[in-house]
Amino acid sequence: MKALLKRLVPARLRERLRLEALRGDAVHCPVCGQGAIAFLPAGTPPRPHARCAFCGSLERTRAIWRLLQQRGLLKSGQRILHIAPEGSLHTRLLAHAQAHGTDYVFGDKFEPGYDHPAGTVELDVTALELPDAAFDLVLCVHVLEHVTADRQALRELHRVLKPGGTALLVVPFDPARAQTFEDPTVTDPQERLRLFGQFDHVRIYGRDYPDRLREAGFTVEEVDPCAGLGPEEVFRLGLKRGEVLHVVGKG
Ligand SMILES: [Zn+2]
Repeated sequence: MKALLKRLVPARLRERLRLEALRGDAVHCPVCGQGAIAFLPAGTPPRPHARCAFCGSLERTRAIWRLLQQRGLLKSGQRILHIAPEGSLHTRLLAHAQAHGTDYVFGDKFEPGYDHPAGTVELDVTALELPDAAFDLVLCVHVLEHVTADRQALRELHRVLKPGGTALLVVPFDPARAQTFEDPTVTDPQERLRLFGQFDHVRIYGRDYPDRLREAGFTVEEVDPCAGLGPEEVFRLGLKRGEVLHVVGKG
């Protein structure tokens, strides 16, 4: 029956029907504004209640979008740099940039076979070909754990941020570790998976991550995206307890 449906119903229509069936009001995605019966599993191993079926946002992207809104960090006429843009945030920031005359630069260091979103420039976060003090807001989320020379990347991000600007430099980190664990001699993907939790991660950050941020010159604030929210609201917005958003500034 499933195979027959697959043959008879075009893929785009199947996707539309699937999304229609997920519409509801048990959860609400702050990034795309859609209500749904649930968030979908995502990740390896899969986390339940993680991905928005409509825009693809994850717990951290929803937390970041809420923070940007709550703190009024998106303004007219500002300059935003977004490293390795997440699709769901990227869509909203593009729309914001078009509506408010924001200069929105987004780039990534592309591996062969990776799709470039339209307008994306090739950017090496350890050697940004961008002027000093150019950006009011910098987003660099779940990038540094892939970068061997992360201290150099942090210095570059500090260099391009305007004094008084804000950057969100969010990394996965293990609160049980006091010290960041890394070993640059480990290059085998299987070994990286075993040691660092993902085949292309080069370290696991510990509770000392803010020290690395301060070393690069940033002021650091660790934000709990669930602060002040009850369990129902955390569930409804699909946020993750224990997640920390590293919000940094340049004095
Ligand atoms: Zn969404």
